[in-house]
Amino acid sequence: MTESASQPAAQKIAQKELARVLVTEEQIKQRIQELAKEISATYGNEELTVISIINGAILFTADLFRQLTCPTRLDCIRISSYSDSERPISDPELLDTFRLNINNRHTLVIDDILDTGRTLKKVVDLLLEEEPLSLRTCVLLDKPNRRDIPYEADFVGFRIPDAFVVGYGLDFDEKYRNLPCIGVLKAEYQNPPQWIV
Ligand code: 5GP
Ligand code: MG
Repeated sequence: MTESASQPAAQKIAQKELARVLVTEEQIKQRIQELAKEISATYGNEELTVISIINGAILFTADLFRQLTCPTRLDCIRISSYSDSERPISDPELLDTFRLNINNRHTLVIDDILDTGRTLKKVVDLLLEEEPLSLRTCVLLDKPNRRDIPYEADFVGFRIPDAFVVGYGLDFDEKYRNLPCIGVLKAEYQNPPQWIV
């Protein structure tokens, strides 16, 4: 078998359709280990309830969650940031909410990427209504120059420039979530929506 024939399909798509890779598979693995240590040290033996914002944060949450050493509980919240693949909507829509009781519990929200800040702000405000014991946020990626709402996450994987990225959970039109790395799509695969920067 040749080297390219033995490559996983997602790896081949990444090579063909990404203009550039911003974060490699190896860098993601390494950083998640560090984040897991940092988060585990923050909570020690205290129980932690993780609320993952899906679909985008599914892969990140799965890899990070398995490495936490504190006692944990896991729930999800489903938010749609875009009305369709071509237009951003200014107010993220809550599609499905969490079920666990977080009142008086340490709670950590996990998202794939912090961009304008609207999604995280909406989720944080919603969770604060339940009066958790503490509420922190963790994002794999942060585009600090794009904020509409001033908001900083407590744990950040990578700060990246203003570019629309895909891979490792992040999609374009529901594609590319299974790429092992994170990168910028070539222009010809972008469709091309006006709002992509
Ligand atoms: P915010 O509400 O902070 O503007 O954006 C957060 C959400 O928008 C993320 O959870 C993600 O779903 C989506 N998003 C923001 N930037 C990107 C990007 O570069 N690529 C992809 N695929 N989604 C993004
Ligand atoms: Mg999202």
